Amino acid sequence: MLDTENILPKLKRLRARRVFIQVPEGLKTRVQELSRELEGAGLKTFISIEPCFGACDIRDREARALGCDALLHAGHSDYGLKTVLPVIYEECRIDFDPAPLLKMHLGDLRSFKKICLVTTVQYLSSLARAATFLREHGKKILLGSPIKARHPGQLLGCDFSAAKSVEPGADCFLFMGTGTFHPLGLSLEVEKPVLFLDFESTELIDLGQERFSLQKMRYARIAKASDARDFVIFVSTKPGQAHPDLAMHAKEKLESLGRRAWIVVADQLTPSKLMGLKAEAIINTACPRIQEDAKLFRKPIISVGDIDMFEEMG
Ligand code: SF4
Repeated sequence: MLDTENILPKLKRLRARRVFIQVPEGLKTRVQELSRELEGAGLKTFISIEPCFGACDIRDREARALGCDALLHAGHSDYGLKTVLPVIYEECRIDFDPAPLLKMHLGDLRSFKKICLVTTVQYLSSLARAATFLREHGKKILLGSPIKARHPGQLLGCDFSAAKSVEPGADCFLFMGTGTFHPLGLSLEVEKPVLFLDFESTELIDLGQERFSLQKMRYARIAKASDARDFVIFVSTKPGQAHPDLAMHAKEKLESLGRRAWIVVADQLTPSKLMGLKAEAIINTACPRIQEDAKLFRKPIISVGDIDMFEEMG
């Protein structure tokens, strides 16, 4: 997964001497070994232990302040951020053959002729194998080109364009991988059915029911927020999540509706950071993953676009 033989020549090409390493939680158990291997090759390493959910969160300014001359970011694809240090993106693919699972569930796919395949970066090789298997079984496969993500068929929690770009020609979306964050997010962004081939449980799950429940929860959150008087608008300082202009636009919108709003800034939003502040609702301009922790905040969290629905709700 974190292959020193692959990483070391790239660092050598950059003439790196001091390397700042960022890995997602799933690769943390391997990062100390990697560090030892790199140090054995003469490099100095600093390991970031801040949570890291995406390549939107490149900590190169922090790395530079520590005297590093390169950053190794593992587990995510390049998000296109401009950085002050050279960054090596080590995508870390998992080699999983989905054909046996697809064979098991072929009957459930019988009503879909044109299937759009989507996944996350670590399972892109599974996508290619699935495409071959499904074509051999008479399916037409669609792979859309993403905007922020890097590879055909790749989704990010903030970029579903690989699916949306081919929706008119597709009968359904088939997400393959693990975890519900991406397939559930996708189900809220598209109209056609979304199926989730879960590599952990081996189930093929139609997300129609979950989509319906999530939509109901979203409307309930918007309805509750529409009754609020005081809002905080959250801006993240993570370079790929910082949207100050969007926050200012949200503030203007809220004030034009007679509400009070403050723009608050942090690397990551947690309930304790809001203690002492007046806020009945939160507008999120950063990563949509915050919505996953919504229960911890005990107040509705909505997106900037949701403010447009206040008048309908009133
Ligand atoms: S903003 Fe969130 S969903 Fe988008 S890449 Fe970053 S962590 Fe992933």
